Amino acid sequence: MSILTLDNLTKNFGGLMAVDHVSLSVEEGEILGLIGPNGSGKTTIFNLINQYFPVSEGKVFFNGTDITHKKTHEIAKIGIGRTFQKVRPLKRLTVEDNVMAAAFARESTFAGARSVAREVLKFCNLDSSSMLLAGSLPIGGRKRLEIAKALATRPKLILLDETAAGLNPGELDEAIGIIKKIRDELGITVLIVEHIIKVIMTLSDRIHAIAHGATIAEGTPEHVAKNPTVIESYLGSDYNVEDHLNV
Ligand code: ADP
Ligand code: MG
Repeated sequence: MSILTLDNLTKNFGGLMAVDHVSLSVEEGEILGLIGPNGSGKTTIFNLINQYFPVSEGKVFFNGTDITHKKTHEIAKIGIGRTFQKVRPLKRLTVEDNVMAAAFARESTFAGARSVAREVLKFCNLDSSSMLLAGSLPIGGRKRLEIAKALATRPKLILLDETAAGLNPGELDEAIGIIKKIRDELGITVLIVEHIIKVIMTLSDRIHAIAHGATIAEGTPEHVAKNPTVIESYLGSDYNVEDHLNV
C-alpha cells in the first residue's frame, strides 16, 4: 500500500487554480521528487497535505486513511513532517531550543525532547552549533536546522520544500548526503520539492512533474527529463539529461 496518495487534489484561490486535479502516490521507502516551474503549485500541494490550507476538491490518504480534513497538528502526530521553503527559526532561541520546541509535538517531557533534539542535531551535522542563537546561523545551517526540526517530530514521511536552495556547492553535497541518510538510515519516506537539478536527479527514485497546477509527466528521472513538455516548460532545450544522471 502507498504511504501517501493524492487523489485529484485541487486548490482554487479565488479564480486561480493553483493545484488542478493532481493524483500521485508515494511508496513507502522511496524518494519521490516533485518538480515544476515557479508558481506551478508545489508548495501549495504541501500545504494541502498538511492542511495549512483547506482542500477545494479531492482527497489525501496516508497509509490508506483519509486525512483530507484532519487538523495540521493531527497530521504531524500521525507521522507527516515537513520543512518550509521560507525558513523561520526562532532567532533569539538557541539552535537546540528550536529543535526541542518541535520535538514537543511528540515528546511530553523536557528530558525526552532534549534527547531527541540532540540526536537529530547530530544527524544534521549541527551538534557543534547547538548552543548558538538560531539567528546567527548562516543559510546552510538554517536549512539543516529546518530539516532537524522536521525530524524531531519523528515522521514516517517527510516533505522537503527547497531545502537545497541558496546553498553553496559544499553545502549542497552535505544536504544531499543528509537526505539520503534520512531514507537509508532512518527509513523515512521522502517527498522532495527541489529546483536544483543535480539534487533532484541524484536523489529521486521517481519524479512527478507539474506545470500550472497540473501533472505533465511522471516516472523515472531519465524518463521525465526526456519528456518534451518538461523540457519546454521547465528544463530548457539546452538541458542534457546525461550530464545529471548518476552524478
Ligand atoms: P510553487 O511552490 O510551485 O512555486 P506555489 O504553490 O507557491 O508554487 O504557488 C502556486 C500558485 O498559487 C501561484 O500562482 C501562487 O501565487 C498562488 N498562491 C499560493 N499561495 C497562495 C495564497 N495563500 N493565496 C493566493 N494565491 C496563492
Ligand atoms: Mg514553492
